[in-house]
Amino acid sequence: MTPLNCNSTPPRSKHRVLVHASNECSRDETVDVAAERDASRHVQKPTARDARRERVHVVAKGATVVVRAAESRDTAASRDERLTNASRECVDSSTAQVVPSRTARVDIDDAPTFRPTMAEFADPIVYLTSIEPLARRSGICKIVPPEGATPRWNADAWSRDDDARFETKLQLVHKLREGRLFQFGKEYTKGEYEAMAKAYEETWARTHPTTDVKDPEALERAYWDMVETRGEKASVEYGNDLDTKLHGTGFGADEDGGKHPWDFEHIFSHPLNLLRVVEHDIPGLTKPWLYLGMLFATFCWHVEDHFLCSVNYLHRGAAKTWYGVPGSDAEAFENCARATVPRLFEQAPDILHQIVTMVPPGVLVDHGVKVVHTVQQPGEFIVTFPRAYHAGFSHGFNVGEAVNFGHVNWLDFGRRAIDVYSTGSFKRNAVFAHHRLVSRAAEMFVEVLRKNAPAVRSKVIGAVVSTLRKELETIVCDELVDRASIVRRGLNVAEVEPPNEDDDACCVRCKAIPFLSVVRCKCLPTAVRCVRHAMDACDCGPDDRTLEIRVSDDHLRDMSRALLLGRDDEDADESNAWSDSPAAKRAKPTAVR
Ligand SMILES: [Zn+2]
Ligand SMILES: [Zn+2]
Repeated sequence: MTPLNCNSTPPRSKHRVLVHASNECSRDETVDVAAERDASRHVQKPTARDARRERVHVVAKGATVVVRAAESRDTAASRDERLTNASRECVDSSTAQVVPSRTARVDIDDAPTFRPTMAEFADPIVYLTSIEPLARRSGICKIVPPEGATPRWNADAWSRDDDARFETKLQLVHKLREGRLFQFGKEYTKGEYEAMAKAYEETWARTHPTTDVKDPEALERAYWDMVETRGEKASVEYGNDLDTKLHGTGFGADEDGGKHPWDFEHIFSHPLNLLRVVEHDIPGLTKPWLYLGMLFATFCWHVEDHFLCSVNYLHRGAAKTWYGVPGSDAEAFENCARATVPRLFEQAPDILHQIVTMVPPGVLVDHGVKVVHTVQQPGEFIVTFPRAYHAGFSHGFNVGEAVNFGHVNWLDFGRRAIDVYSTGSFKRNAVFAHHRLVSRAAEMFVEVLRKNAPAVRSKVIGAVVSTLRKELETIVCDELVDRASIVRRGLNVAEVEPPNEDDDACCVRCKAIPFLSVVRCKCLPTAVRCVRHAMDACDCGPDDRTLEIRVSDDHLRDMSRALLLGRDDEDADESNAWSDSPAAKRAKPTAVR
């Protein structure tokens, strides 16, 4: 299949670069857990009203009440005491967004766990597509490889001699509800990070003798106590988003020197992963990322870019607790996040894209959002499905790896992601051109069908081609309608060659990356507009603007028609139906043929 072409362009960062947070108030100093326990305590007696309510929302700007818990942290009494104490804690005016409250809910449903047979496990994307109808209902699922089929650990990537350094993100666990951008932590080699993480773990275990650090539920309670009540403070460092090209993959070669079928490089180049047509080298998206975690290191709530799926593997070390929300509840999740921290969303509408916010699962449940959890042990995969919000934290030092993939069932979500990016309450840049991806994938499958006639009869390929064709028809229909409307407005029309992927540019108005055509104006020829925003961004008239058609109407129709080859015999009667289809009828021809 088409090899991945890694070009030399500087990789786009998948996520926004995090900057040093401002507005740090004096109470925000980071302190290690042991020192914190000896800090002086100022407990203000709760009011009767506070004590009656399980969750109390009190905002007392500017006050400086600090609450500390009793020694025995795991008894219900002490938690309740902290609840009422914490309810009195305030948030200063610079950060008055989140009021400590607790739900103590960890009794949510488990995400489904799948245990494929050796035969099922052999093809990751075919297997994931088969379990998707069930797994998607939970947003995330766990895959336990069959016995003897666990990927080998790449010991070379963990050599102590490896002096490649990376910078961590400093996370204040007790402030994770506030959505602050993470400051940078220290620089480590992998070996140094491991030593630091293990020392922290030992100190924490010693100073919390009543918490069984091997018990995931006990750690989960301790974690949410900290996040929800801020009864205790912890600052940890997360070695996230490490480029495997610099730091090595955790996947070792098989005995015969080949790649494990679930090796992420292998998953990425899988014929049914449409994302592989993206030629840009995008770390974390088209290239795996490595994650080094420590006790309480957190990945905050987020969805994958372009609502892609992700697959995550825990190579070694301590477990990770995961939370997931199905894609069907994504908007409910966003509404809940907005409702619980409205000020945060006012100040930074795209806060969920910055992956710095934790909303407790109990709060989501209270808002009617479906949320599940699971514990990922080393040797297990977690898969997240399209638009499924997910979050979690580590139970100690560990090494994980993740990559995105987009199979054919993702296409519809990918298109909707662009709509959400460009028309939602906030704008954000697309990471790649969705229409370029669909066109390329279509061309690729047209080629597959042309060269390999038996593939046409393959149920899997047939289903992929059929879905791809429907997606292409939707896009082509919209595009032709928009082109026709632009032509009616009297803009100039020119046919041009599509640019290299490196030269893809966002629409100045909506931040989508148009591919099939763009509109430029004489006044600033470098700025592109998508067809929907042809008349935006300046006051010039239609005469000054040009619709640049990169893929002709005919070629779009030809591609769609060529994909009809992949349809079943009973559908084959419709094989000349494109020109009569409702989509084609709505699409008026434009000036360029
Ligand atoms: Zn636009
Ligand atoms: Zn202009």
